[in-house]
Amino acid sequence: MDTLLLGQGYEPLGRVGWQRAMTLWFTGRAEILEEYDDRVIRTVRVAFPMPAVVRFFRSTRARRAAVRFSREQVYARDHGRCQYCSSEVTRRESTYDHIVPRSRGGATRWDNIVLACRPCNQRKADRTPSEAHMALLSRPVQPAPHADGWRMVLGLVGEAPAPWRPYLGLE
Ligand SMILES: [Zn+2]
Repeated sequence: MDTLLLGQGYEPLGRVGWQRAMTLWFTGRAEILEEYDDRVIRTVRVAFPMPAVVRFFRSTRARRAAVRFSREQVYARDHGRCQYCSSEVTRRESTYDHIVPRSRGGATRWDNIVLACRPCNQRKADRTPSEAHMALLSRPVQPAPHADGWRMVLGLVGEAPAPWRPYLGLE
């Protein structure tokens, strides 16, 4: 079971193994904010609850990770919705549209790729949105590490242990 690691300002930084979280706490670098109710760490002498969320006491510049470009992360950024018709698209049905088509020199990167359902992707074909008279729901950008990007940094799309959820803005 992993522990959610927060920065001094409560921003999610990532997930670490509970052993690492205990080390941070034991060495006085982090505080434990939440524990797992149903998990106990036993040593020879003591037993204590497993940490679920820990927070660094001091700011940590180095740990901010940029969100790497991948299909999964584009899917998460676009909230599983076709960016043309806004219908929900499952992972299996998902296609990725080059806004400026590759045949016209469009790059494969955050600001030129959106999640699209198959019908929209086929309809748009090798055209730009304006040529195809199809409007984008929003202008695609690279997610910021501490805004929309945290779910992707953490490898969490829709799942997080209960004690993490308030810190991830899920409740
Ligand atoms: Zn669509």
